[in-house]
Amino acid sequence: MPDITLLGTGGMLPLKDRFLTSLYVEHEGKALLIDCGEGTQVAFAQHGLKLSRVKAICITHLHADHVTGLPGLLLSLGNTGACEKLRIYCGTSTVMTIKYLLMVTGGLPFDVEIVPLSEKKGTAFQIPALSPELTVRTLPLCHRTPCLGYQVELAKKPVFLPDKAKALAIPVQFYKTLHAGEDVYLPDGRFIRSADVTGEQRAPIRITYTTDTLPIGEIIDFAKDSDLFICEGMWGTEEKRESMEQKRHMLMQDACRLAVRAQAKRLWLTHYSPAEKEPAQYAGLLQSICPDVHISQDGDHITLK
Ligand SMILES: [Zn+2]
Ligand SMILES: [Zn+2]
Repeated sequence: MPDITLLGTGGMLPLKDRFLTSLYVEHEGKALLIDCGEGTQVAFAQHGLKLSRVKAICITHLHADHVTGLPGLLLSLGNTGACEKLRIYCGTSTVMTIKYLLMVTGGLPFDVEIVPLSEKKGTAFQIPALSPELTVRTLPLCHRTPCLGYQVELAKKPVFLPDKAKALAIPVQFYKTLHAGEDVYLPDGRFIRSADVTGEQRAPIRITYTTDTLPIGEIIDFAKDSDLFICEGMWGTEEKRESMEQKRHMLMQDACRLAVRAQAKRLWLTHYSPAEKEPAQYAGLLQSICPDVHISQDGDHITLK
C-alpha cells in the first residue's frame, strides 16, 4: 500500500518551518518524488525518510520552487551509495533546464535518464524501477509556463478466496501466483484460473497532485474519485483572486470546489504563499465548501489502503 509524505507545503520561497512543495510516494520500499524545490533533501532528513529509496522524480514545471533542489538531492542520493539508474520525468520544455542543473553536480555515481513528457496532452506510463502495479498519468495545467499535474494510481489485486482454493484442493504454493492474476496447471494436470479463486476487481488507489495552475475544469475529471487529492491553495482570501488569476495560481477555495466536484475522498492543500503565515485560519470557511479538506503541514503522512 502506498505511503505518502508531503515533504513541504510552501510555494515560491522556503520558510524556516515550511519547505517547498514536494510529494514522496513509496510503495514496496521504492519511492517516487514529485517536485524538488530548494532544500528538499533536508526535508527528507527532517521527516526520517530514506533518500536511497527514490527511484524516479517527476517535475511539474521549471519554476525554481519546483526544480532547484535537484542538484543537492542527487548529490545526497549519491552519498547514500545509490548506483541504480534514476529517471527524471518532465515536460519537454523543462529538459534543458534539468540538464543544466545536473551539470552543477560535477558527476553522479549513477546514470540519470531524463524522460520528456508531452505538455500538450496527458500521457500514462509505468516507471521501470517501480512496481508494475503503479501507473503515472499527467495532465497539462494552465500556468505561466508549461506545467503538468500528476496522478499515481495503484492497481489493487482482487481479494484471494482461500475457502474456494481449499475446496478445489489447490496446493498452497500456488496461492500467490493465482492471487497475482496468473492461471496455473497443477501437478495433477488440472487447469485453474485465477478468477476461480479471487473475488471481484477492486477500485485502484489514486493520488492526484496539481499545483501552479488556474482551477481549470480538466482537473475535475483528472482527480475523479481520488483517494488523496493534493492541490495548491496559495491564499484563503478572495481579496487575492485577481492577483492569483494574473499569476495563474488558485485560491484554497478553488481547490476545495475542484475536490468536491471530483468527489475526491480527501483534499490536502499545499503551495501556500510565503506571505500566508497561517493557512489554518481558513479551516472553517474551507470546510464549509469541502468537509474533507485538510490544511496540510510539512511532514503530513498517510498510508492509503
Ligand atoms: Zn510554485
Ligand atoms: Zn510555478
